[in-house]
Amino acid sequence: MTELPAPDPSGPEGSPDRPARRLLLVHAHPDDESINNGATMARYAAEGAHVTLVTCTLGERGEVIPPELAHLSGAALGRHRLGELRDAMRALGVEDVRLLGGAGRYADSGMMGLPDNDDPGCFWQADVDQAAGLLAEVILEVRPQVLVTYDENGGYGHPDHIQAHRVAMRAVELAAAEGWDVPKVYWNRVPRSVAEQSFARLCDDLPGLPFDKAAGVDDVPGVVADERVTTAVDGSAHAAAKAAAMRAHATQITVAEPYFVLSNELAQPLFTTEYYELVSGERPRAREDDLFAGIGEAS
Ligand SMILES: [Zn+2]
Repeated sequence: MTELPAPDPSGPEGSPDRPARRLLLVHAHPDDESINNGATMARYAAEGAHVTLVTCTLGERGEVIPPELAHLSGAALGRHRLGELRDAMRALGVEDVRLLGGAGRYADSGMMGLPDNDDPGCFWQADVDQAAGLLAEVILEVRPQVLVTYDENGGYGHPDHIQAHRVAMRAVELAAAEGWDVPKVYWNRVPRSVAEQSFARLCDDLPGLPFDKAAGVDDVPGVVADERVTTAVDGSAHAAAKAAAMRAHATQITVAEPYFVLSNELAQPLFTTEYYELVSGERPRAREDDLFAGIGEAS
């Protein structure tokens, strides 16, 4: 199902073929992984963990920012975005990148409420159990201790993000029944206090930026009350890799560190500490700084 080489899953634990720590991320479109988890992915890859990305669609219905690429749409945009994804993963040092069911199996569903949502080939119309079965195969092969995806609203309500959530959570159940119970499942989060402080700084900085307007706290996916956030991964040492990965998605993102815009042209902070809520696994008493905390003892 992948066009990129996967590791040999038959290697013993801890061997070069089966790194001891294995992280699986499930995302809707190329670019979501770099925006949400780029610093985390770069950090764990640099530390020798095996990082696997499963992206569910090619984002063929995304809006294109650069005028010189505005002619790209549909399948041509999907092919282009696959190339962007490969470049982004090179920047993050991540080698195991897969499209759910193979490239083009599930089409981008477009924004919520558009007629595109009714396309029988789109991810929103996919049978959840069938798509989850494809993802469960990856889980059983890679045997990740940590899986990262979105909350039940997909972070911000995009149909493909909601569907990625449903498919990921169902795949965890299916894989558990087949012999690999993922010890820790996380949803992407941003603590409200962090978002508020970052936007306050952004408003101060805006006059010096190449962007005209700022987004607001509620435009950021996954913002929740601070106490729900169980984990903060400091990826500031990998800020340059994250920014490079985001720049690789040039059809979708314009970066001016430490800020960026999507096609709506509203400036947002580029977070290099990334936040998570543990939703399956023992909830820590204090905020963790490592997605694999407790794994050494537990499995
Ligand atoms: Zn997306």
